[in-house]
Amino acid sequence: MTCLASVASTRWARRFFLLGGLLMLAVPGNLQAALTLQLTFGDPERRWAEFYPAITSNLKAAAQDWGQYLESGATLEVDVVFVDDPYFRVRAASVASSPFTTPDGITVFEQGVAAEIRTGKDPNGSAPDIRLEIGIQYLTTGLWFDADPVLRSAPVPHGKVDAMSVFLHELGHALGLNGWTSPYDGSCPNEHKSAFDRWVKFDGTNFFFHGPQAMANYGGPVPLTYGNVFHVGNSAPRPGQELKSDVMNGEVQVCGERYYLSRLNLGMLADTGLPVRMPLPALTRAKLNGERVEFQVHGPRARWYRVEVSTDLVRWAWVMDYVSTHPAMTIVPEDDFGSARRYYRAQIF
Ligand SMILES: [Zn+2]
Repeated sequence: MTCLASVASTRWARRFFLLGGLLMLAVPGNLQAALTLQLTFGDPERRWAEFYPAITSNLKAAAQDWGQYLESGATLEVDVVFVDDPYFRVRAASVASSPFTTPDGITVFEQGVAAEIRTGKDPNGSAPDIRLEIGIQYLTTGLWFDADPVLRSAPVPHGKVDAMSVFLHELGHALGLNGWTSPYDGSCPNEHKSAFDRWVKFDGTNFFFHGPQAMANYGGPVPLTYGNVFHVGNSAPRPGQELKSDVMNGEVQVCGERYYLSRLNLGMLADTGLPVRMPLPALTRAKLNGERVEFQVHGPRARWYRVEVSTDLVRWAWVMDYVSTHPAMTIVPEDDFGSARRYYRAQIF
């Protein structure tokens, strides 16, 4: 009889596995949308009103994506304004900032949005918390709006940038990945530091992020983009070329591509002081479906997963990488182990 077992793990955390028929699984936290957005449009003549529904649905989906990892029930007001400049694309920032902590006598400021998420109190009352600027030309010719930005399964057209990916990126800035560090020499005006700046180090040539949770997820200091320092990754010869596919990369969001949140993004946000949950994947008991093995991987949606297989729990072989479109994904791996006992594990990037 074929013996099948499932192993859930992350690269950095606990491992759960099936022994003697007892299945020990990490049950992911009940991931619910924790951030609510209220949008207003600074567009007095409603010139771009035809885009309001698409902007609203994609921005709310991006907030839901980040929000499922945040222990908060905050409601954030977003003011969307349109910029009549053919070279302007998209920019978002928290409107307010407030003193957060004073390590070594230097006052560190957090984003007003972060303060509201952390404390439940809105530092600027009913005024907008986030200002989102969108270039009109970029809106009308550059961006593509997913009709289902939660499922994210329709192909992104070649030559268009996925607005959902852009909004994930911009909300990352508004939530905490922002500050005042000079992107060329690392100085901070008036010694003002944001909760992001406090972890930035410039070695004279390159920038790195030294937040402990980000480093634990990346495996060392995280290369930040030279000249665009609230981002990750660089082109050669600077460090972090593999981070150019990260949603918070500082070079480009490639046309026709989708970008997803990563453990690195969440670790960096946690380092800025936000209460971030890092859910683990969970695997159901594997079963035979005809000749094929089948099991489910449970965890957050819209993330990259990797499934690996082993016959001895020592050597692991790659099975597949995939993006989760649903909280439970059925996996039917192809292998040639026949009736041998084997184990599967999954990790979330
Ligand atoms: Zn950016």
